[in-house]
Amino acid sequence: MTTNNEPAIEEMMRDAEIAEEPGDIKQGSVISASADMTMSAAELQSAGYVYVYDNRTADRSVVNRNMLQQQLEKQRPDGSFVFSTRKPEGIEPVRGTFKCLLHADDPNREKYTQMGLVVCPKDSLRSQYDVSLHMQFRHRREWQSIEGEREQLERERAQVRDDNMVETMRLLADRERPQNVREEKDGKR
Ligand SMILES: [Zn+2]
Repeated sequence: MTTNNEPAIEEMMRDAEIAEEPGDIKQGSVISASADMTMSAAELQSAGYVYVYDNRTADRSVVNRNMLQQQLEKQRPDGSFVFSTRKPEGIEPVRGTFKCLLHADDPNREKYTQMGLVVCPKDSLRSQYDVSLHMQFRHRREWQSIEGEREQLERERAQVRDDNMVETMRLLADRERPQNVREEKDGKR
């Protein structure tokens, strides 16, 4: 299957390390598998998980066994494989510290719960940009809700600013008016 010394995909499929603790997914908790589909962790676990490693960064991900072959076949533009079921030796993965917006520790968690948004355990994102990518790809519907809410708030704030401006103009106009009236009266005398 492969011409270089990368282990054959079939071999890696066989060697795949079973993910005992599928990430941070708790039994019975609901995770967002895609924009339109949510599966319970129990359902996903019954399908079987394995670990795959990015063979350049050593980043570990949990992959559904049904999706394993597809992941192992992924190639970089230079034709090398991206994932391996074997942990690359001598590479320590760089672990980010940014949390998913849907993380339990998020300051807006209470509001998100009220909005019916799921909790996501992802806490190793590497930048704010990665957070927004993670949101867009993993939680598209939730991201739209959050963004929609933010835009709505922004519109309301803009409206308040406009109202304040109008009110200020009116107050300024009012302050000048009596004086004008008085001057007019004085002028008549
Ligand atoms: Zn997330």
